[in-house]
Amino acid sequence: MKAETKFDLGQEVFFIHYYVEESIKKCTECDNGKITTTKGSVLGCPFCYGLGTFRKCYSVLYVAVGKIINIDVTFCPDHIPHINYTIDSNHEKINENLSRIENEMFATREEAEEQMNNLEKEIK
Ligand SMILES: [Zn+2]
Repeated sequence: MKAETKFDLGQEVFFIHYYVEESIKKCTECDNGKITTTKGSVLGCPFCYGLGTFRKCYSVLYVAVGKIINIDVTFCPDHIPHINYTIDSNHEKINENLSRIENEMFATREEAEEQMNNLEKEIK
C-alpha cells in the first residue's frame, strides 16, 4: 500500500512551537513577604503568602523551522494512512527531534504564522 505524503523527506517545514516563560513580580503589599501591623507584630503577607513575589508561568508561541528527517506511515484497519513526520530543528529552544502530523506543518512561514494567530485568538 502506498500513501501520498504532503511533504518530502529533507524538506524544510514550519510549525508552531512554544516555550514556557516565567515572570516574577514583586508583591507591592508587603516588605519581602512580611507585614508589620500597627501594633508592631510581624505577619506573613496574605497577598503573596509570605513569599514577597508572585510567579506566573505562561507559554509563548512562535513559528519554528525544521527539516523532515523521517516519515513514518502506518495503516490502520480502516486503510487510512497515518503519517507521522520526525522533524529536526536547530532552534535554540528545541533540543530534541519533534514528531508532527501533516495538519501541524506548513510549507511556508506565512501559513504557520496565520495558524499561530488563530491559535492565540482561541487562547485569549
Ligand atoms: Zn506580599
